[in-house]
Amino acid sequence: MTSVVVHYKELALKGRNRPWFIQLLVRNLRIALARLDVLAIRAIMGRIEIELGPDASWEEVRVRLARVFGVANFSSASRSTHDFATLASAILGDLGSIAPESFRVSATRADKRLPFTSPQVEREVGGLIKQATGWRVDLDNAALTIHIEMLPDGAFYLFGKQPGAGGLPTGTGGRVACLLSGGIDSPVAAYRMMRRGCSVLLVHFHAYPILSRASQEKVREIATLLTTYQLRSRLLLVPFGDLQQRVVLAIRPDLRVVVYRRLMLRIAERLARAGRARALVTGEVIGQVASQTLENMTAISAATDMEVLRPLVGMDKDEISAEAQRIGTFPISIIPDQDCCTLFTPRHPATRARPDEVAQAEQALPISEMVASAVAAVSAEDFRFPATNE
Ligand code: ATP
Ligand code: MG
Repeated sequence: MTSVVVHYKELALKGRNRPWFIQLLVRNLRIALARLDVLAIRAIMGRIEIELGPDASWEEVRVRLARVFGVANFSSASRSTHDFATLASAILGDLGSIAPESFRVSATRADKRLPFTSPQVEREVGGLIKQATGWRVDLDNAALTIHIEMLPDGAFYLFGKQPGAGGLPTGTGGRVACLLSGGIDSPVAAYRMMRRGCSVLLVHFHAYPILSRASQEKVREIATLLTTYQLRSRLLLVPFGDLQQRVVLAIRPDLRVVVYRRLMLRIAERLARAGRARALVTGEVIGQVASQTLENMTAISAATDMEVLRPLVGMDKDEISAEAQRIGTFPISIIPDQDCCTLFTPRHPATRARPDEVAQAEQALPISEMVASAVAAVSAEDFRFPATNE
């Protein structure tokens, strides 16, 4: 097989934005397949053809394509002509010596002006294949489905469809900044935003040198993994230990977690604005831990004017863990580390912090100076996929 045919679905809904979406999808496919033997990538009437050179490994192409957002499904494919006999023999040539239980031909026409109907293609080409092989036709439950896509200047045929990553092409959803801990939840929250087409700026707070560098190592690994989906990432590392020590000195224990989070949001907001991101994202879930109540989330959001998105808010822990497994972040997230949040965290955080009560308590702190000093101490790291040294 000499090509891959990529299908997209949701793009079709986007009206006048459609050409822009397809352009970004093609661009992302080019980046994702960089340095593989790919001769051309082109959009053709509702699908994208990736023309492979002789050295392209299907396995590598498959793994990389399966992570590109905006792809509904893809298949290894070849080109042929409209002529039914030529098509049937090309298909038989590519199928080689396999002997499926049953088969069917499923045809589509990209242009309704073509001088044959789809059922006619299915009947005629299916008939020729049956004649040549004796295979049983099963329209409802075929072991092998042969797809034929008739285009104005020829045909594609493809066997089986691999599911794509779904969602929308990276770059179509705008920029957001995700507060990324080394835990299980926030990497999944970042992934969910990426899948909806957002470019996600990653912001991690650490307590080095009070604690070890372990949490930074973990988020680097998580950033590397998430970059296999969004292709380019920037990770911002924010020193937070000093600020926490100041909170401990000035704020009563039960309010500290909410005050830490409010400080994180204020700092993240500043970093987001500098990075042209329009919203903040966290991995918070209603009721998952004592500090994540509706009341506390309201008090936390009140620290910023920026939209705070919580894509996991209604999910169960086992659903989030299953998704973390599927996207590959789970084994990294469960490596033990010393998250800055375990530092100076009281055993019994308030479950119903009121915004006015927290704001009152924060009067004891030079908040804007603390935010400014953290922002000034941020370091940035950039990630690319495929990595340039591969
Ligand atoms: P996670 O699994 O994402 O760490 P969690 O269940 O441990 O979440 P919390 O520790 O209460 O929950 O954190 C809530 C959210 O606050 C996280 O999902 C994340 O978005 C943000 N957050 C917490 N700690 C950090 C950190 N060190 N750096 C950046 N963001 C953080
Ligand atoms: Mg955590």
